[in-house]
Amino acid sequence: MLVEVLHEIERRDRFLLTSHARPDGDAIGSVLACCQILRQMGKQAEVVMRDAVPVIYKPLPFTEIIVQAESVNGKYDAAIILECDSVQRTRLSGLDNHFLINIDHHNSAREFGHVNWIDKDACATAELVYRLAREAKVPISPEVATCLYTAVLTDTGSFAFSGTNEHTFTLARELVLAGADPVRIAQSVYFSNPASKMRLLGCALRNLHRQGCLAWMSVTQDEMERSEAIEEDCEGLVNYALSIDGVEVAVFFRELPDRRFRVSLRSKGALDVARVAEHFGGGGHRCASGCAVEGPLSVSIARIMAQLEPAHDPNARNL
Ligand code: 5GP
Repeated sequence: MLVEVLHEIERRDRFLLTSHARPDGDAIGSVLACCQILRQMGKQAEVVMRDAVPVIYKPLPFTEIIVQAESVNGKYDAAIILECDSVQRTRLSGLDNHFLINIDHHNSAREFGHVNWIDKDACATAELVYRLAREAKVPISPEVATCLYTAVLTDTGSFAFSGTNEHTFTLARELVLAGADPVRIAQSVYFSNPASKMRLLGCALRNLHRQGCLAWMSVTQDEMERSEAIEEDCEGLVNYALSIDGVEVAVFFRELPDRRFRVSLRSKGALDVARVAEHFGGGGHRCASGCAVEGPLSVSIARIMAQLEPAHDPNARNL
């Protein structure tokens, strides 16, 4: 499929690139790297994203090229959609009439494009972008390596999620050899948090509950406002619940302005949380997934917990 994707790229000139709304490190890193690789191939390439670049990814090279918009208006020969299981996940309108090249690595990936390159064994979509560059014989610049390494680092949970294996480290090694600075990138991603995120973490930890091998925490709109937090400050908070000894699955609930709840699920590997998220119209990976559910909070928790039931041991210690 890589050869087919490259073939479809080679025979076209003008490309739009995008990824999912509320972008994470893999979305931003992959889209920026892919855009540069296309430009190095002599193509016209632009990046349009629905949401702003999260603060921790702003130091990445090329972020200034990202156009934030709700719709795609230019004339393009093809749109390359990275990291998405549907066009809707981009939350951009105006994509439907384009030739769509879909590149994804999620468990919940779907063949919605005209060409679909889906590799569920890839540790990040960035791995596929790297393979595309190699196939196209485009040299990886230090800037592109930085984008790709950031994507791999964050999408593997700092090389900790299941699926991390010797190939992940080979890829990381090649990116470091190409000029990615692992220390600087780790500092930029993990030691540059805004204070609002730490205040929000305090709220989430006050709302931490545990029942057996399940742990969950939540933040309300009111707590978000009092913490002066924004949506992206929620990223990664769920990992504090997952870090408890004996907890297999952790869930983070964030109240939305319409009173629904955005849910982040994380698993240590025994339970497939992509399956749970898909049940509610979301998706993701075996160990990291997300969805939105109706409120109020107690109902949201009950609905998610019911889907996690097989993992639930009522006799285990509570928090
Ligand atoms: P997070 O909890 O960090 O928002 O998302 C974890 C993983 O699940 C990411 O790979 C993300 O792309 C995926 N994910 C989160 N929410 C959704 C959703 O609503 N739909 C789909 N298809 N994937 C989601």
